[in-house]
Amino acid sequence: MQNEANSMPAATGENNSDPLSIGLEVKVDPLTGMKGLYTTLDVQKGGTVSPFLSKELLDRPTYLTVQAGKGQHILLQPTILQYTNHGCDPNVFFNTDEWRLEALRDIKAGEELRYFYPATEWRMDQPFSCACGSIGCRGVISGAYNLPAEVISGYKVTTFIKRMIQERDLRATR
Ligand SMILES: [Zn+2]
Repeated sequence: MQNEANSMPAATGENNSDPLSIGLEVKVDPLTGMKGLYTTLDVQKGGTVSPFLSKELLDRPTYLTVQAGKGQHILLQPTILQYTNHGCDPNVFFNTDEWRLEALRDIKAGEELRYFYPATEWRMDQPFSCACGSIGCRGVISGAYNLPAEVISGYKVTTFIKRMIQERDLRATR
C-alpha cells in the first residue's frame, strides 16, 4: 500500500496548451450528441494513455473532479481528460496511485475512452442513471459507497477506494 503522504504532482505555470495531451481528442457522438474523449493512438493493455497531474485540489467533489483520497478531489491536467465519460465496461482507469490514465485492455486508435467512475469516486456530486448499454451495466452510478464488495472486486479501483470498502464492511459486521 502506498504511503498516504505520497507527493501529489501539481501542474505548474500558466501554460494551458496541455503538452501532455498528445494522442487524445474530444469528439461528439453523432447519436447522443455527447462529447467524449477518444484516443488517436493504439495503446496496449497496462500502458499509459496519458499521465496526469493535479491542476487544482478541491476538498469536495464536482462533476469534473477525480478523487485522490479522503477530502482530496483534483481538477485534471491535461484538462482534456475531463471529457472521459463513464462506462460500466471501462477501457481505462484513472490510476491516482501512479498518476496515469491506464489502459485496462488493448485500445485501438479511434476508440472512445471510458472509465468506471466508482473506481476513484466514493460518493459522487451528481449521481446519474447510466445508459452505457454494456451487459453488466450498474444502473444508477453514485460512487463506490453503495456498491457491494463483489461488484467492486470486478473492477480495478484505487487503493483509496479499496480501503474505504474494507472500512465500510468492517463497520457493517460489527
Ligand atoms: Zn452502465
